[in-house]
Amino acid sequence: MMVNFEEYVQKYRLFIIAGIILLAVGMIALMGKKEETVPQQAAKAEDHRGITVLNYHKIDNTFHSLSVRPEDFEKQMQWLKQHGYHSITPDQLYEFVTNGVELPDNPVMITFDDGYIDNYTNAYPIMKKYGFVGTIFVVTSFLEKYPNYLTWNQARELEDNGFCIESHTNTHKSMTEASDDQIMEELTTSKAMIKEKLGKESGFIAYPTGSYNLHIAQLVKNAGYKAGFTIKYDAVSRGSNVYALERVPIFHTEDTNRDFLERVLYLPLMNKDGWIKK
Ligand SMILES: [Zn+2]
Repeated sequence: MMVNFEEYVQKYRLFIIAGIILLAVGMIALMGKKEETVPQQAAKAEDHRGITVLNYHKIDNTFHSLSVRPEDFEKQMQWLKQHGYHSITPDQLYEFVTNGVELPDNPVMITFDDGYIDNYTNAYPIMKKYGFVGTIFVVTSFLEKYPNYLTWNQARELEDNGFCIESHTNTHKSMTEASDDQIMEELTTSKAMIKEKLGKESGFIAYPTGSYNLHIAQLVKNAGYKAGFTIKYDAVSRGSNVYALERVPIFHTEDTNRDFLERVLYLPLMNKDGWIKK
């Protein structure tokens, strides 16, 4: 039997209308679906990648790989602020790793090694502007000995404003090349100096150049430190060894801010694929 077009439309009218409605609903749903924002992506990444601990040295304009320019540093802090990051202290990180204590959303720990004066003159005002605190691992014998290092008064002011001053040994001796006695001397003298000058018990150490081994970690524990920080391109997680906490160095490179973003956003990928130090 021949069915002409009109009869066909009559017969299947309801199906055709239902089809058009479904198509329209689908299109509206597609148009309404927003792109995921970077903080949403970052929050998702946070679930499985743990906590990023950034490691800086100098914040100044000298052309050196360990010197991040203040304008670059400001862009990095601004980016962290705009994307909802909250800076945490070493105690907060320690409590997270050992006792599972919750951290604020998008936590990041911002650390500096050696105790350069530009941490106070350049980094501190920028961080204050964005509401961040940092942790400075100082080489205790360098303070008030060399002009490009912090003074104890500056260290105290930083402490009073939420920063943490912790140990980076007393003379920056490489621990993997020192005797046990020398290591203990470095550990106990720097701890005593921080106690004397700042009236606090330093519970944290950053190994000079990140070099450590299990024996050194044991000595650090014996000297009364709660945790130690190394350099490793990975995030801190609940499974991290508290005497070998991972930190990601931020260097001055040909494209410092791009490298910063890569490290903050894609840390797990870098680690998985074997990240090459730039
Ligand atoms: Zn150092």
